[in-house]
Amino acid sequence: MEFLTSEIDSLTIANSDNAWTESKPRNRKTKHMKEQISESHQASYSYPEYHAYVSDEVPLMSWHGNAKRSSFIHEYDTNIMGSFTCTNARCKKNGWSSKKIAINIRYYYGNRYNAIVYNQRCKDCNSLGSMSVDISSYTERVAYRLNKWLGLPVETPQHSGESKGPHQKSLCEGCKAGHCSEGNTTKFWHK
Ligand SMILES: [Zn+2]
Ligand SMILES: [Zn+2]
Repeated sequence: MEFLTSEIDSLTIANSDNAWTESKPRNRKTKHMKEQISESHQASYSYPEYHAYVSDEVPLMSWHGNAKRSSFIHEYDTNIMGSFTCTNARCKKNGWSSKKIAINIRYYYGNRYNAIVYNQRCKDCNSLGSMSVDISSYTERVAYRLNKWLGLPVETPQHSGESKGPHQKSLCEGCKAGHCSEGNTTKFWHK
């Protein structure tokens, strides 16, 4: 459980700075700022602000923001969609999109949950990206899983489609953390 504790700790810190979700700076003036922002990027984030959307689908559940001493009952690794920009001012790559962003969803006693979304690295320069999560795919995946754990009827989720190439484990923080359904050799979408 020590591992869990430290992981959640780092998430709490990550939540305090969501400035990186802003759109990519375009002119030269902001380049300096761009570099500063890149230093604050994290390997993973959580999005308590998206609980409002999840809550519309699963009113029974509440967000578990302070999970330090809690042990979870269930956890599940799946993936969501989103896009990234590279914030390394010296890198020419603007950004990329992904249909396989790793997310780890956890269910705690008292009908509480949280979810950790894992960042990806730029394939040109290996910097951590600035991640923009697709809210509807986040909401759909999290709500689906929670309903399933609650034993409520669920509709079969739609696949987000196949990625263009093979999953690049070295660029996926979810793979590094051992929470990527793409990185696992066994796929367990319909478990
Ligand atoms: Zn880059
Ligand atoms: Zn992965």
